[in-house]
Amino acid sequence: MKLTEYDISNPFTATVTKSERITDENTDEVRHINLRIHHPSFQFIEGQSVGVLVEAPPVFGNENYLRLYSIASSRRGEAEDAAEISLCVRRCFLIDDISGERHPGVVSHHLCDARPGDQIRMTGPYGRHFMPPRDPTCNLLMIGVGTGIAPFRAFLKHIYEDRQEWQGKIRLFYGAKTGMDLLYLNDKNGDLATYYDEATFKAFEALSPRPHFDVPVDISSTIADNAAEAWDLIQDPKTHVYISGLSRLEEDLDQVFTDAAGTLEVWEAVKAEMIEQGRWSTLFYG
Ligand SMILES: Cc1cc2nc3c(=O)[nH]c(=O)nc-3n(C[C@H](O)[C@H](O)[C@H](O)COP(=O)(O)OP(=O)(O)OC[C@H]3O[C@@H](n4cnc5c(N)ncnc54)[C@H](O)[C@@H]3O)c2cc1C
Repeated sequence: MKLTEYDISNPFTATVTKSERITDENTDEVRHINLRIHHPSFQFIEGQSVGVLVEAPPVFGNENYLRLYSIASSRRGEAEDAAEISLCVRRCFLIDDISGERHPGVVSHHLCDARPGDQIRMTGPYGRHFMPPRDPTCNLLMIGVGTGIAPFRAFLKHIYEDRQEWQGKIRLFYGAKTGMDLLYLNDKNGDLATYYDEATFKAFEALSPRPHFDVPVDISSTIADNAAEAWDLIQDPKTHVYISGLSRLEEDLDQVFTDAAGTLEVWEAVKAEMIEQGRWSTLFYG
């Protein structure tokens, strides 16, 4: 769905209650931002996104810039308060292909520059296609890169804090440029590390081999190294696969799973069946 197709006719405000950088100063800036929503009937479920609106200069024809952000909280909200949600936001830049110049991304800068007490204009929530299954015997295979961890934080909080009857296996394959970019699993904010103690949970981390040269995260080889585990899980009809982050991830995964399946035909048939049964969900940021 195009951004222009989202309904933004009922915007509301939210107050920033916390903004914390969760990556080191010498790597890309990513912030964990808590917002108190001022909307009496705001409700969401895990996997949904909110819209953030920033007024645009009149020359552009549109009144607002709209960008979407995955809610990183479970429906219970932050600190037991459903009106307080968190976002995980990377400060983005648009790089001019020809001149190489870096232009600050309007909405991510607006969010990353906001400090406690500042007001943000928002819309939503949106999207109901990326949500954990109800059946607690289902397995979840979650694959994400960078801020693509945000919906998985919501999933993990929901499953391990609200669904204590969960029996299915949960596997998180998660990639980042450096160890400090392993959001929610690094020294500055490790709140997902608490789930390592859960018998059903395992996380597999992938880092870029040469982070300072922008060499992509090698999540494919991390999955390939654990192909038997991932492939066994994929063949179980109780497994739901979730992929979140930048869209090039899906191509890489097709290659990994083609290798695991033996041929492209076998992989395409398995994937088509999962899509048809609603067990393959993707959430791409760009
Ligand atoms: C459903 C959905 C959920 C999203 N959830 C999140 C989220 O939880 N956290 C988040 O930081 N962003 C998220 N995004 C991306 C976000 O909507 C914006 O695109 C991003 O913040 C850039 O907006 P901007 O106005 O700052 O810059 P723009 O000028 O729109 O973009 C600047 C550049 O940043 C690139 N880019 C966009 N998002 C990312 C990213 N996350 N990592 C690396 N490069 C990126 C764009 O491709 C572009 O080249 C989500 C997008 C979608 C569609």
